[in-house]
Amino acid sequence: MKNLLKNIAQCLAAVALLHAVGATPTLAEERTVSLYSYRQPFLIEPLLTKFTATTGIKVNIVFADKGMLERIRAAGANNQADAVLTVDIGRLYELKLAGVLEPVVSKTVTANVPAHLRDPENLWIGLTQRARVALVSKSRVKAGELTSYEDLASEKFRGRICLRSGKNAYNIALIAAMIAHHGQESAKKWLQGVKANLARKPQGNDRAQAKAIAEGICDIALANNYYLALMLTNEKEPEQKKWAAAVDLVYLNQAQGQSGNHMNVSGAGIVKGAKNKAAAVALIEFLSGDEAQKIYAEINHEYPVKAGVPRSALVASWGPFKEDILDMEAVAKNRDAAAKLVDEVRFDEGPTS
Ligand code: FE
Repeated sequence: MKNLLKNIAQCLAAVALLHAVGATPTLAEERTVSLYSYRQPFLIEPLLTKFTATTGIKVNIVFADKGMLERIRAAGANNQADAVLTVDIGRLYELKLAGVLEPVVSKTVTANVPAHLRDPENLWIGLTQRARVALVSKSRVKAGELTSYEDLASEKFRGRICLRSGKNAYNIALIAAMIAHHGQESAKKWLQGVKANLARKPQGNDRAQAKAIAEGICDIALANNYYLALMLTNEKEPEQKKWAAAVDLVYLNQAQGQSGNHMNVSGAGIVKGAKNKAAAVALIEFLSGDEAQKIYAEINHEYPVKAGVPRSALVASWGPFKEDILDMEAVAKNRDAAAKLVDEVRFDEGPTS
């Protein structure tokens, strides 16, 4: 009996040792995580390299530019993705509504990410913030001439604004935030006013709006802040430096009593039924931590969500600003209403319709 107990004790010690070195089958499975990413390789690869070096967990990544939700749904119980990484509150919310996410249970994550930048049940977690700022012509817009989103509907800007499609996710989120702040009716009037001020039919991406300002087509545009930084530092396509050099960045709604500049997020979630859940949690913990937050800031000039992590030097040079701290969930809930407004005012038909 004594020998039997001794044998059992030895076996338990051996199992504990195997666990410690990660050699048991259960742990071996946990040493890999499969990730679907909407985010681009130039940004994600340095983050994942650091993650694997730090934790020993390998990452299988599939880069997708669309159809993430459809893939997860189609795979059903055979789904291979443990975690998803994407941009825009709309996409995160869509995954949540589709019921394909499960809560990220982690004290590290909830300590790193402020509550207004994650789902109330932690189904999605914001990992970076981006500001939708005004880009204004250096030569044709005076300092202080444009100070708020509301101003974009003012008659003084008739024929002077360029925007990408109202249906673009970044613009939808902004319009949804306007609905959250002012209500549906006021937001509709505002959108009609902005449409009347357009210099041309909505078209192109955010960078194309800066190009249009450089070409003298319009004086004012909206863009996510990181596009200005990526244009200013673009060695591969130096013409983008010229577009960027023609504009100043203006943070909007900064006055006392105003909402602050509209913010959006990129974020992550864990896929329901993830086979490597512990590894997926470890990945999101890592991405919300100091090291990864700094990489996000340096490479893509987004704003870290974790307090105390510095912005990139370029972004910091734009100075401090007041963020709109509207709950992302409130923005997400108004997205359908925002899309409806864009249709109702026929925003994408341009100024003359
Ligand atoms: Fe973008």
